[in-house]
Amino acid sequence: MRLYISADMEGTAGVASWTQVDPKNTTEYPYYRRCMSLEVRAAIDGAREAGVTGVLINDSHSSMRNVMWDELPDDVRMIYGNRKPFSMSEGAEGGFGAAFFTGYHAGAGEANGVCDHTYSGDTIYAVRVNGIRCNEALLNAAVLGLAGVPVVLITGDRTTVEGTKAHLPWITGVAIKESIGRFAADSLSPGEAQRRIREGARTAIERLADARPFVFDPPIALEIDFVSTQNADFAELIPGVERIGGRTVRYEHEDYRVVFRLFIAALRLGGAANVPV
Ligand SMILES: [Zn+2]
Repeated sequence: MRLYISADMEGTAGVASWTQVDPKNTTEYPYYRRCMSLEVRAAIDGAREAGVTGVLINDSHSSMRNVMWDELPDDVRMIYGNRKPFSMSEGAEGGFGAAFFTGYHAGAGEANGVCDHTYSGDTIYAVRVNGIRCNEALLNAAVLGLAGVPVVLITGDRTTVEGTKAHLPWITGVAIKESIGRFAADSLSPGEAQRRIREGARTAIERLADARPFVFDPPIALEIDFVSTQNADFAELIPGVERIGGRTVRYEHEDYRVVFRLFIAALRLGGAANVPV
C-alpha cells in the first residue's frame, strides 16, 4: 500500500515561533528543519512496520523546500517547491491507501495553537466550507478524500490534534506539545516526539479499516474572511466570486477540487494586495 504524507513544520517538537520555521533564518531554522525531517522519517518508519511499501512526501511548509533528503530512506519520492496548484495536498491522485499530516498547526483564530494560521496569516482571517470553520488539515483532507484517500494520522500541538479529530474522528493524533498561547509551548523532546510519531504511524495504518475519506457534501460553499478589505478587493475580481461583506467573499461549486483551486487562487491574488500603496 502506498502512503501520502503532507509535511508541515509549525507542529514540530520544540517549535513555538515564526523564527524557528523561517527558511531565511540561519540560526534556529536549520536545527528545527532537521527535527521536522526526523519526524517525517519516524512516520515513515512506523508506517512501514505496519506494511506500507511506497511513500510520497509533499513538503508543505513555506518555501516547501524543507525536508532533508539525507534523513529519509532512499526509496521515497518527494514533491519539493511552492507554487503547486494543490499546494499542501498536491499529488493526492496517486493511488494512495492512506495519508498522514505531520507537523500541522491550528487554524487561524484558534486559541492555544502555536503559530495559528490558515495558509497565510497576512491574508486569511477565517475559511468556512459549508459553514464549517476549517483549519488546513480539514481543507487538505477533503482534497485527499475526493481522491478516495483517508487521512489517518495527524501530529502537532494538542489544539491541532483535537480540532481535527472533531471532524475526522478515526484519525490517530500524536500531540507533540501543549500550546501556551500563540508563541509558547510545553513540548516533548524531539527524540520522544519521534518515538511517539513512529508508534502512532504504525497504529494509524493498523486501524485503517476504521477510517474513511473525508468529503464535503456538494454543493460546496466556500467563504473566506480576509484580514483586510484590500485582500477582498482583489479576490472578488475572480469570475464567479461574490463579495458578501467588506472582508468576505463567497464561491459555490459542485466539485471540491474546483473550490480548492479557487481558494488557492483567492489566497494568491488576495495576498498580492499586501503591498504598500
Ligand atoms: Zn507551515
